[in-house]
Amino acid sequence: MIQVLHISAECYPAAKTGGLADVVGSLPKYFTNAGMLSAAIIPKYALKWIHGREWVTVYGGSVWVNWRQWRFTVQQEAGNSLGYPLFVVDIPGLFDRPGIYNDASGAPYGDEIERYITFQQAVLDWLLSFPWQERPRVLHCHDHHTALIPWMVKHCPAYQQLAPIPTVFTIHNGQYQGAFGWNNGNLLPPYEAGARNLLDWNGIINPMAAAVKTAWAVTTVSESYLYELHQNSLGLETLFHQEWRKEYGIINGIDVHVWDPETDPMIHHRLEDDHIQAFKSKNKRVLCEWFGFPEDAPLISFIGRLVGEKGVDLLPDTYRRFIHSGTRACFLVLGTGEPWTQNQFRTMAHQYPGRFNAVIDYNEALSHQIYAGSDFLIMPSRVEPCGLNQMYAMRYGAIPIVRSIGGLKDTVPDIGEPGGNGRGIRFDHFSVEDASSALYRAVSMWHNEPGIVAFLRQRIMEVDFSWEKTIEKYVAVYRRVGATVEPDKAPPPEIKEEAPAKPVAKAAKPVAAEEPAKKVAAASPKPKVKKLAPGEKPPAPETAAKPTKRIEKQSVSEEKPPAAAKTKRKATAKKK
Ligand code: ADP
Repeated sequence: MIQVLHISAECYPAAKTGGLADVVGSLPKYFTNAGMLSAAIIPKYALKWIHGREWVTVYGGSVWVNWRQWRFTVQQEAGNSLGYPLFVVDIPGLFDRPGIYNDASGAPYGDEIERYITFQQAVLDWLLSFPWQERPRVLHCHDHHTALIPWMVKHCPAYQQLAPIPTVFTIHNGQYQGAFGWNNGNLLPPYEAGARNLLDWNGIINPMAAAVKTAWAVTTVSESYLYELHQNSLGLETLFHQEWRKEYGIINGIDVHVWDPETDPMIHHRLEDDHIQAFKSKNKRVLCEWFGFPEDAPLISFIGRLVGEKGVDLLPDTYRRFIHSGTRACFLVLGTGEPWTQNQFRTMAHQYPGRFNAVIDYNEALSHQIYAGSDFLIMPSRVEPCGLNQMYAMRYGAIPIVRSIGGLKDTVPDIGEPGGNGRGIRFDHFSVEDASSALYRAVSMWHNEPGIVAFLRQRIMEVDFSWEKTIEKYVAVYRRVGATVEPDKAPPPEIKEEAPAKPVAKAAKPVAAEEPAKKVAAASPKPKVKKLAPGEKPPAPETAAKPTKRIEKQSVSEEKPPAAAKTKRKATAKKK
């Protein structure tokens, strides 16, 4: 029996634009490994990974949205390749598109409200078909796309049978609340008259606010971020104050099987026998040859969405100042986002060859290589609910340079802090001055204190960011809201196909493998390294994501997670 059902718009590797996918892709895996069968359900987008898998229809139904009936099927991945059941909701006409949120030009789909309201209702309709004793013990909703579920199960008569199931809502990003005007209120399922106020915040329908009001528990992806939401959450501050009793900050973990320097098939040189120095310098050489950088200068990289939230607007001036000062360091950027930022980086790549380069693309494989080959990773974020990049960087021996905010504050103590547990370099103010002085600290340490750099690398690569510790905190929250989640020794149930008598009569038809997923070779070939022109994309490792233009969120293409990485780097592993 599924104990926890994660309901989300993204799940790695099926559909990813950022950290939400990574988290929803790993939580059910770690829960299932701990004996608590968990599953994830997302919409069925027309993405490569999804099309490359075989799906079995387990349910068919329909929902009404504003007098329009949407037929849908719920399908389960037949191979169970993620180690837990992954379900997709196939709603022809709404989600069978090649982007997650945006079309190929980067513009958001105009019917986002209708798409996610339909998806949420379809999930609930499916859950109603479960015998009550087989229903999940917790419905765990992630971000605003699924934020109406806690409200729907409590206040929409159609779904009230599900009301006894505790709902937990996790905020991965409070900047996007999914708000829409009351003129679209007719898209919602019928609800009790008194429930209108629960949807409303400042005169509009705000799904995130509705979830904070109605979910049994609300979590954020770090403790500091919970505190910050109380200070500034685009108008929801008083609501967060009001509901503080049910709020918990739980820092994310990372999937240490996907992100394992000893087995990662996306990097050119893996960590062997704990030779960290060799691992770093060989991978750095690859990047230096691709991007035309000297190897005897520190390489400082940025990976992420090129948007204000990530603080990238600070980088051009900071880098220019640094480069003009003559200090020896090189800078690399990987990301997509706001056009003016992209253009600035493109221009700088031409202005400062050998010192700066940028890849304006979403490229999962290249990101792994950058974590492995960089000396430092910079994250000057304005807002950072948790941030995963700094944890991936540490696992791959890249020292983080971060702004003291949200999850960055919780995971990267400064090396100058008392206690001697530093992991990186932090700066407080969002200013070119503060960012520059953090960079100077990093660069001078690299040039003058190689022993400290080596020591720090070893320390950060040993930090245990795995989910095992984190899931205990989620279990505690589930139990606090009365959900009886506990290790279940019974084997996971077999996939049952939809009975023919279900509302949608179509026979279960596995999706044809239109574009068979590329198998990630156990040992990826080492492509010949060639120097790139400024701004040119690297000869992407064979698993590289297909480039597409996106503004705010970018979807990943096919990447099979590294097959069954057996070895988890132990926090106690000895290093040389
Ligand atoms: P976000 O706010 O974007 O979700 P997170 O730090 O939580 O930020 O997660 C970002 C995830 O997306 C990481 O796995 C990071 O490596 C990945 N990522 C972001 N931009 C890119 C890119 N251009 N190419 C490859 N991976 C990217």
